[in-house]
Amino acid sequence: MSYIDNPLTEYAEKHTSGESQVLQELRRECYEKYEDSAMLSGFYQGRVLAMYSKMIRPRVVLEIGTYLGYSALCFAEGLAEGGQVITLDVNEETNRVARAFAAKTQYADRIDFRLGPATEIIPTLNETFDLVFIDADKQNYSNYYNLIFDKLRPGGFIIADNVLWSGKVLDTEKDENTQALHDFNEMVMADKRISNVLLPIRDGLMIVSKN
Ligand code: SAH
Ligand code: CA
Repeated sequence: MSYIDNPLTEYAEKHTSGESQVLQELRRECYEKYEDSAMLSGFYQGRVLAMYSKMIRPRVVLEIGTYLGYSALCFAEGLAEGGQVITLDVNEETNRVARAFAAKTQYADRIDFRLGPATEIIPTLNETFDLVFIDADKQNYSNYYNLIFDKLRPGGFIIADNVLWSGKVLDTEKDENTQALHDFNEMVMADKRISNVLLPIRDGLMIVSKN
């Protein structure tokens, strides 16, 4: 699914490497059984995330917002030897499904699923992150950014999803989630400790590099 109307999107997808069988299965199950399936990264964005991970070769990835584990499995593809993805979510039901799918892959023991509110779990993590993916409740994006920042290594990256919010960031009257995402984008822009680029991929990816 693409939020950005571009006749070249299909062409780009056709000229992008395929995903694994398990990821394909996971997507199919999601679209069939879940009303909120639009939350899943999807094929093209999944390949973009996997490619970023292969470029960065992270030792530790922190993902905030697991859902069915689709993006966690994409990040796992690029992990450095012995690396791990720590992924956080509050939803027990989707977490169970995510674990079951991960168990079918070679990354089963590389993904550490943690259940609970991210604002409570992050302060308990002692790892240094190479890459952080922010993709949970939109109201907390700025909180997540501030909570993880000192645990991100210099030269590390943050990727935040849905920062264009289906184009609603342009609305003059913004609802709460839209305002939170706009405030997040503005906060990132004002941060002198980083450089960033907002990529208009799917629903918008904010890519941040820590100096
Ligand atoms: N990253 C996934 C999609 C995540 S959807 C992918 O790309 O495939 C967003 C997820 O954030 C949902 O599963 C939701 O349960 C979770 N979430 C919402 N509030 C949260 C919170 N306070 N802490 C952790 N996870 C939260
Ligand atoms: Ca998302």
